[in-house]
Amino acid sequence: MNDPRITIMQGDITKMEVDAIVNAANQTLLGGGGVDGAIHRAAGPELKEECRSLGGCKTGEAKLTRGYQLPARYIIHTVGPIWKGGQHNEDQLLAQCYRNSLKITLAKKISTLAFPSISTGAYGFPLERACRIALQEVKAFLDQNPGIKQIYFVCFSEKDLKKYQEAFQTMSA
Ligand code: ADP
Repeated sequence: MNDPRITIMQGDITKMEVDAIVNAANQTLLGGGGVDGAIHRAAGPELKEECRSLGGCKTGEAKLTRGYQLPARYIIHTVGPIWKGGQHNEDQLLAQCYRNSLKITLAKKISTLAFPSISTGAYGFPLERACRIALQEVKAFLDQNPGIKQIYFVCFSEKDLKKYQEAFQTMSA
C-alpha cells in the first residue's frame, strides 16, 4: 500500500500536534489504564468532567470531546472490542471503531488525525490482525474523503511499529 496521507510512526500520542487524537477508551469513558490513562493525565481533569456528561460509549462507537491541555484540539473516544478468540464479532467491531472515529472528523473539519493501536493492549487483540484492519479502514476512508490531509498511526513500542510497517508494505493498494 502506498498513500502519502498515511504516516506510521513511534511515539506518545498525547504529544501529537494534530486536529484530533483517538483514544482507545472503555465503555465508561471515565478513564483507565494504557493510552486512555495517558490521555486523561495529559489533558487534565476537565476532560473527565466532559466525559461524565456523555453517558458512556458502546463498543465500536465513537464520541468527541475537546482536547483541553493536549496540543490536539479534539479527542475522539472509541471503545475497541475485547479479544475473545475471534468468533465474537471482534474484527467487525474493531473496523467500526476506525470507521466511526473517521466519520466524526467530517462534521468537525478535522484534517489531521492520530490513532493509537486500538484493542491491542489490555484488550488482547492480535496485533498483526488489528493493524491490517486499521490500515484497510483508513485507506478506504481516505479514498472517499479528500478533506483528510494526514492520518498518523502512533505506535508506542518498536515492536508495534515494525508490525505496522510490515503490514503497510505487504498490503495491496
Ligand atoms: P486497549 O484496552 O484498547 O487494548 P491499551 O491502552 O491497553 O488499549 O493499548 C492500546 C495501545 O496503546 C497499545 O499498543 C499500547 O502500547 C498503546 N499506548 C499506551 N500508551 C500510549 C501512548 N501514550 N501513546 C500511544 N500509544 C500508547
